[in-house]
Amino acid sequence: MKTYRKELWFNLPSRRGLVNITNQVQAAITESGIKEGLALVNAMNITSSVFINDDESGLHQDFERWLEKLAPEKPYEQYAHNGYEDNADAHLKRTIMGREVVVAITNGRLDFGTWEQIFYFEFDGKRRKHALIKIIGE
Ligand code: ZN
Repeated sequence: MKTYRKELWFNLPSRRGLVNITNQVQAAITESGIKEGLALVNAMNITSSVFINDDESGLHQDFERWLEKLAPEKPYEQYAHNGYEDNADAHLKRTIMGREVVVAITNGRLDFGTWEQIFYFEFDGKRRKHALIKIIGE
């Protein structure tokens, strides 16, 4: 069995934002030379997520509005976590949207369902953050 590891780095100019990382994950699979196996992609910070869904801008606005209803950013003082930091909402949003995804690799390609794309979802940006790609197979 072969393994391959790669980190992706982000520094979004806004507090929240979505990045489609599908092409970068596929590139890592190609670099790995692995044809049959699994690709794990996980956020390496506790205030960002990696998830799979549709690359459709209306849906992305809906995620933002839905998450703001569940865990609104402000007022900051509503959260016990805030004080030294102001990112309690980002921790909660990350928990809702998840830490990682696992995708099958078939014949060297991401073996997706219909319309599936992989996204990095930033909830506390304006600083360097990262995600891990780990590929196993042969
Ligand atoms: Zn925090």
